[in-house]
Amino acid sequence: MTVTTLGPCKYPSPRSGFVSDDEKIPANIIRAPDRPDDPGPLFEIAGPRERLYFDPPRVRAGIITCGGLCPGLNNVIRSLVRELHGGYEVREVIGFRMGYGGLDPRNHHEPMVLVHSSVDDIHQQGGTILGTSRGPVDVGAAVENLIRRKIDMLFCIGGDGTQRGAYALYEACKARGHALAVVGVPKTIDNDVLYVDRTFGYLTALEEARHVIDAAHNEARSVENGVALVKVMGRHAGFIAAGATIASQDVNFTLVPEVPFRLEGKGGFVAALTERVRDRGHAVVVVAEGAGQDLFPSEPHITDASGNVKLKDIGPFLAKAIADGFAAEKLPLTLRYFDPGYQIRSRPANCEDAVLCDMFARQAVHAAMAGKTGMVVGLLHGTFIHVPTSLIVAGAKRLDTDGLFWHSVLAANQQPDRFG
Ligand code: ATP
Ligand code: MG
Repeated sequence: MTVTTLGPCKYPSPRSGFVSDDEKIPANIIRAPDRPDDPGPLFEIAGPRERLYFDPPRVRAGIITCGGLCPGLNNVIRSLVRELHGGYEVREVIGFRMGYGGLDPRNHHEPMVLVHSSVDDIHQQGGTILGTSRGPVDVGAAVENLIRRKIDMLFCIGGDGTQRGAYALYEACKARGHALAVVGVPKTIDNDVLYVDRTFGYLTALEEARHVIDAAHNEARSVENGVALVKVMGRHAGFIAAGATIASQDVNFTLVPEVPFRLEGKGGFVAALTERVRDRGHAVVVVAEGAGQDLFPSEPHITDASGNVKLKDIGPFLAKAIADGFAAEKLPLTLRYFDPGYQIRSRPANCEDAVLCDMFARQAVHAAMAGKTGMVVGLLHGTFIHVPTSLIVAGAKRLDTDGLFWHSVLAANQQPDRFG
């Protein structure tokens, strides 16, 4: 899993604690009886290199944030700027504004010059000081602009779409003969990136979701037959719903994209919920936004500006199904619905995420200075690694429904393995 390097590394590094390209970590560290000697792919370990491809004082670096908000974006921007300026004495760092749209001069988003003082307090704020966007990019115009501005390295902070866009920029620059180090920092609050043990923003999201669940629990148990329904993020993976359930221990039903469920009939979700409310007088339900998509009538897909399929809104759909189910049983119901998505993703990073953001950012700078390109910083078995972008966007991480994490959810809320 060697990542591409722009060329020979001639310049001495001002940093210390060097890591060699020959130091690798295997994807498989568990020695399974059926494959005792199969380490799986070997990944380069991230960290400062002794020799650099770029001469630090002559470097022009660019930073961009794309896609949805996630706690920690400003922390990553800050640590990139601080490592570039402070660690390597790079003189010019530019923040492109409003996502990839900001790379095309026709959109008139004037880039920001980022100096030490411009990032002083930004890690205490949620959101991104650079702005973000979705939507198509004119790769030709973007590359033309990067060449005209003599940008040597571009740090792309974003999700799967952003990393695909970063790869398109890398390939277009290669075709033009422009030596651009394109290094991605993976961003997804859903924690669903392969070769990344934990993405920044995820633990902040759990903490915030847990506060909402606490409120939901108080609401539900303060009224007769109270049901609190909390929708959390998780388009394709239920890590937030699962993690918040384990942390809270007050959730009774957790619905995630990986586990399809039936609403009606014996053994269905509504029957289990009415039974629980009859028995205990209240219930808390957590649903991931991507759960139960197969329950909606099939209609042509609607996509967002970036071409991602827009999910059907499972929250109100489920609320109606619950209300109908209780009405059919002539069971009184007080339903409280919580949809805290925007509140959660715009929060500043908590302590653990702040630490993670700093580490991701500094590893990204070390990689770019050594001329690594077409890569994303990963985190495997607690070790930061270099992952070729083509590999990281080829798949995604999902909850293992036979694994410890999901079993801890089932143990905490005592819901059946399957509804129907
Ligand atoms: P999120 O976690 O919010 O989904 P994301 O990075 O996946 O983050 P997107 O809106 O899908 O968010 O993509 C971000 C940017 O990357 C958009 O400007 C989009 O047009 C661009 N992009 C996505 N896929 C590609 C691609 N295959 N080639 C070029 N650009 C792309
Ligand atoms: Mg995405």
